[in-house]
Amino acid sequence: MEFDQLWQNALSEIELQISRPNYVTWLKNSHLIDKQDGIALVSLPNNFAKEWVENKYYKVILSVLRNLDESTKKIEFTVTNKQGSADNLKKKISNTVSKSQLAFEELKIDPETNLNPRYNLSSFVVGKSNELAFAAASAVIDEIGRKYNPFFIYGGVGLGKTHLIQGIGNEIKKKYDNNVRVKYVSSEKFTNDVIYGIRNKRMEDMKEKYRNVDVLIIDDIQFIGGKTSTEEEFFHTFNALYENNKQIIISSDRPPKFIPTLQERLSSRFEGGMLADIGYPDYELRLAILRTKIQDRGADLPENIVEFVANKVQKNLRELEGVLNRIIFYQQAKSGISLRAVEEIVNETIQQPTKNINPNQVIKAVADYFQISPNDLTGRCRQKSVVEPRQVTMYLLRDILGLSYPDIGLKLGKRDHTTAIYAYSKLSGEINKNQDLNQKVIAIKDIIYKE
Ligand code: ADP
Ligand code: MG
Repeated sequence: MEFDQLWQNALSEIELQISRPNYVTWLKNSHLIDKQDGIALVSLPNNFAKEWVENKYYKVILSVLRNLDESTKKIEFTVTNKQGSADNLKKKISNTVSKSQLAFEELKIDPETNLNPRYNLSSFVVGKSNELAFAAASAVIDEIGRKYNPFFIYGGVGLGKTHLIQGIGNEIKKKYDNNVRVKYVSSEKFTNDVIYGIRNKRMEDMKEKYRNVDVLIIDDIQFIGGKTSTEEEFFHTFNALYENNKQIIISSDRPPKFIPTLQERLSSRFEGGMLADIGYPDYELRLAILRTKIQDRGADLPENIVEFVANKVQKNLRELEGVLNRIIFYQQAKSGISLRAVEEIVNETIQQPTKNINPNQVIKAVADYFQISPNDLTGRCRQKSVVEPRQVTMYLLRDILGLSYPDIGLKLGKRDHTTAIYAYSKLSGEINKNQDLNQKVIAIKDIIYKE
C-alpha cells in the first residue's frame, strides 16, 4: 500500500536522525494510516508513545515526510491497538474525559488489581528527572517479564513513583485487553496480609493471591525491611514469580543497598534487575506539570502566577498539586486571585523549616557538601572548585536567611557587597535552568535543615 511505502521510506530516514534506541523504543511500531489535505495521520501503539513522539520528534518527522512528499503540511498522531480502523482512531482523539468523570474515577479502584485509574501514563509528564524511569517503564510494558526484571524505581517523597508504577499497571491492562493479571499492593498491605495469613493459618490463600499473577507491583518496599516473616514471604513470592518470568515492579524511597534492614539476599535480587531513579523535577518540568493540571481542571491562571508557583515549590510534586488546588479553589470562590494571595498560599502549604538557622551553619553545610573546609569559603582562593561553593553559600545566605549583601560579603571573608549581589543574581537565574545546580542546592538545604 502506498502509505506503507511512504512511511517505510520516512522511517529509514528518521532512524538516521534520532538515536537507534530511541527509534526502536518509540517508532518501531508506528504506521502512517491516513493522509488527507496535507495532514498525515500517524498511529502509535499507546498513549505515552504518542505524547513522547509528538513532543520530541514532531519536527524531525515533519521535515522528513515533507522531503518525501511536498504536500505534507501537518502531522497528527493517534493511538491504535494493532489494527484499529481509522474511524475508530479518530473517535479516540476526540474522546476527552470530563471533569466529573475524573472525580468519579478517583473512587473507582479496581478491586482485583488494586489499581487506581487516575494514574495513567498519558497524564504523566516526562522531563529530565524522570525520563529514564519512564523509558524503562515503557520497555517493561512492551516486554513483560523479559526485559527488565525486577524493575526497581526509587526516589524521594512526592516525585511520582506511585503514579508511574500504577500507570504501568493500568497501561498493561489496557494494552493486553485484560489478559494479563496485574496486582498492585503497598508493602504495608502485603505485610498485613502476611500477618493475617500466619495468625489465621491461611498462608495458602496468601500465596495463591500473590503468586498467581503476571505482574506484581509493590509500592514503598522500604517498609518491609526488618520485618522478618514478611521479608521471608516476600523473598519466596519474588522467587516464585521471577522463575516463571513474571514481571515484578518495585518502588522505594532509596536504592536497595540503602534500605538498612533489608536482607542482603533481597537487595542483591533487586540490584540484578533494572534500577531507575526519579530525581527532583527541574523548573521546566514543574511548569509543564502545573500547566497540564490547570488544563485538566478546566481552570485558567495568569502566567506570572504559574511561574511563581513553579519557582517556589521545588521538591515535591504532591505539594505542587496541593498548592495548585488551593489556588484554584480560592480563585473560584473569590472570582480572581492576586499574586500576593498566591504567595500566602505557597508559604502556608509548603513545609517551612521552623528552627533558627545561623550563617555559620549554612557555611558549614556547604563546606561539608563540597568536601572542603569552611576556611576555603571565607579565604581568598579563586580556584573553580572553591568559587562555585562560595557563590552557592552567598546565594543560600540570601535565600534562606535574607541577609543583606554587605553582611554576606562581610561573612565571607570581608568581600565587597557587589560580589554578593553578583553571586546571588547569577545563581537565582541559573538554578531554574541547570538541573545539576538545582539538585546541589536542594541537597545542601537538606543538610542544613536536618542538623
Ligand atoms: P510518590 O509515590 O513518589 O511519593 P506520587 O506518585 O504519589 O509520588 O506523586 C505525587 C503527586 O504528583 C501525584 O498526584 C501525582 O499524580 C503527581 N505527579 C508526580 N509526578 C508526575 C508527573 N511526572 N506528571 C504528572 N503528575 C505527576
Ligand atoms: Mg507513593
